[in-house]
Amino acid sequence: RSRVVVAGGGLGAVRTVEELRALGHTGPVTVLCEESEPPYDRPPLTKRVLAGTLDAVPLWAPGRPESLEVRVLRGTAAAALDADRREVVDGRGGRHGFDHLVVATGAEPRVPPVVGAELLRTIRDLRDAHALRDILAPGADLVVIGGGVLGCEVAATAAGLGCRVVLVEAGRTLMERAVGAVLGDRLAAVHRGHRVDVRCATSVTEVARTADGRCQVRLTDGTEVTADAVVAAVGVRPRTDWLAGRGGPVLDDGVLCDAWCRASLPGVYAVGDVCRWTHPVTGVTRREEHWSAAGEQAGIVAHQILGLPGGPVMHGVLPYFWSDQYDLKIQVLGRPGTAPGPPGIEEWDRPGALLARFHDDDGRPVAAVGFCAGARLMRLRTGLLPDLEGAS
Ligand code: FAD
Repeated sequence: RSRVVVAGGGLGAVRTVEELRALGHTGPVTVLCEESEPPYDRPPLTKRVLAGTLDAVPLWAPGRPESLEVRVLRGTAAAALDADRREVVDGRGGRHGFDHLVVATGAEPRVPPVVGAELLRTIRDLRDAHALRDILAPGADLVVIGGGVLGCEVAATAAGLGCRVVLVEAGRTLMERAVGAVLGDRLAAVHRGHRVDVRCATSVTEVARTADGRCQVRLTDGTEVTADAVVAAVGVRPRTDWLAGRGGPVLDDGVLCDAWCRASLPGVYAVGDVCRWTHPVTGVTRREEHWSAAGEQAGIVAHQILGLPGGPVMHGVLPYFWSDQYDLKIQVLGRPGTAPGPPGIEEWDRPGALLARFHDDDGRPVAAVGFCAGARLMRLRTGLLPDLEGAS
């Protein structure tokens, strides 16, 4: 009956608790959750919540924490770790002793170093999404800084609402790190087809308030754009500040973990966007920052806490994420952006649909991307790497 404290109230935290109880953990579990809202899912924030067709997607049905016999302290941030006493100190001075600590505090948006950065909006939580949704009326002008996954989703949703969108990407094309240059160019064409003004290889240098309360945006290529809102989506940084004291786990762009999500301090684990781990299949050390990873790492940690072997699905599959833009479902396996050459692309009778396979220098399959490929892509995930070659 060991005591578990979970810091964070998002997907990683909820999944950890669910997995612990499902696997038979009977000891006390306390969740320290900075936000005052009940835990909710983040992917809909840039999609249906921003589009106004949903208010939120709760991760727990009402009464669920009580039936799991879990103490959830909402509006209570983990403020410090007392490593000697093995206690988490919360923002109100409360102390929570643990045998196992799961860090699930996620990440926060990075703000680009532009003049007038205080005028930029970001989108990470429910309040951000609701505030932006209120601005995105048909005909509103929006500038999105960053053509990565989140920026592309915001641009797509806003364009779908009838907004005039300028999407500014400093790199050569959209989502290049996620899907590689060839598919990034295809994606840019999709956005342009929806009247998004995609501007690559340029960036925003300055944002200023105009006399009528709008934003004047200056780009490095010398052009200027006026907008009702400017959203920055240029990446995130892990929320580890509260762990920085003496005796805490090693921090290095996240909580540094092994392939079992174990931090450098015994009994301390990390899951989700805050976890910088060595992936069990790819061997790459990085933060995954995707929905599937948070849930799968939660399964790994619950097994670790209970001393159970096996179980975790992630110890046999490639990293995976998806993105929804217009009616395009993008699915990504592995790290296409790091593959040395262009992919082999298979297309079939559905317009816009494709399956792209990426290889390393020795011709070994390393990654795949699907555009509306559904099960064709997912079938590749359930096998180990070499199955990428043979499957169709
Ligand atoms: P979070 O969900 O961020 O939860 C962390 C929680 O911890 C937050 O509630 C935070 O307030 C709280 N917290 C922070 N510090 C403290 C503290 N000191 N004490 C207590 N609590 C604290 N992934 C996909 O694969 N596909 C998608 O389409 C997709 N869309 C996304 C859209 C958006 C807008 C965002 C933001 C993310 C999206 N993701 C997507 C990524 C996915 O949602 C995240 O990877 C996932 O939410 C990570 O879960 P987490 O629990 O690590 O972090």
